[in-house]
Amino acid sequence: MTSPRLLAGSVCVVLAAGGVAACSSQPSGAASKTRLVVDSTVAPITDIVRQVVGDKVNLGGLIPERVDSHTFEPSPATVRSLAHADVLFMDGLHLEGSTLKQAQANMPHPVAQPTSAEASLDASAKGSEIIQMGDLTVGPSEYAFDFTFPKAKGDPNPHLWMNPLYAKRWSEIVRDVMSRRDPARASYYRDNQARFAAVIDRLDAAVADAVNSIPEDQKKLLTYPDSYAYFSRRYGIPIIGAVQPSDFSEPSPREIQDLIAQVKVNHVPAIFGSEVFPSTVLEQVAREAGAKYIDKLRDDELPREPGAPNHTYVGLIVEDVTTMVGALGGDASSMHSVPTARTWQA
Ligand SMILES: [Zn+2]
Repeated sequence: MTSPRLLAGSVCVVLAAGGVAACSSQPSGAASKTRLVVDSTVAPITDIVRQVVGDKVNLGGLIPERVDSHTFEPSPATVRSLAHADVLFMDGLHLEGSTLKQAQANMPHPVAQPTSAEASLDASAKGSEIIQMGDLTVGPSEYAFDFTFPKAKGDPNPHLWMNPLYAKRWSEIVRDVMSRRDPARASYYRDNQARFAAVIDRLDAAVADAVNSIPEDQKKLLTYPDSYAYFSRRYGIPIIGAVQPSDFSEPSPREIQDLIAQVKVNHVPAIFGSEVFPSTVLEQVAREAGAKYIDKLRDDELPREPGAPNHTYVGLIVEDVTTMVGALGGDASSMHSVPTARTWQA
């Protein structure tokens, strides 16, 4: 046994008389002990991790779907889960502040891995590990700041996963960390990641096609929540305004009037809200500016119910882009060819 937390191998039944009756290489009742325990935070991250680790680890998502990740406070269940975790994969960029604190306090001998895109992971880490994938993916020069995440506050927009290429980078990080922690399954993680990466490449091309089909004068995004900064940058669709102030409250009447003026002046055909966090403000802005209001976008949660074929990260991007591009007068048919079902194999 190389690691006390990875108890794979043979299990023997010891008879009361002292003799060994039978040994099995398939531990039965202790199956959970043979697996690493991996935690992650928001649902899109959990799904990206899942596509690499498949069913070979005990994976738990700490931040439940339909809960605001930005203001989430860890529960006793979070703490219990962290106390047994070998690895925690999270976004970083200050998104999951209180979860990070709980992880540092409750994970067994946590190694805080480097939090910069320039540094590489400590490959000799033996304790549990906290992997802030966002910090390993972008450096300060690539941070996006905006209305909800102003530079003055210092916290960049954390929604890196809305750019599928960052999601692909995360799958590589997961593959590398898991292959090091669980070398016996390295080829399993590698194959899963390769399939996921191939789908991400198709997704990225399809999103670009769909966004490019929007008439140039209608290619503008106004959304709530403010989650599309890296999407906007990747696909060249400008964000013309934001509705969610940096303290996650509602905008002031003055700000609402400014938004209405902006939507009118830009002739934006549709503005977008979240299915999970309805915004009465956006509804009002749309009504007064004569735009359509579509409350169907998601950023921190996955479409449909758990178990549905598109209840995946890729499904999230496909559904968002289909909704967005259609409402802005573009052609989203390129999204039909992107497989949204899971790519991991048992
Ligand atoms: Zn968010």
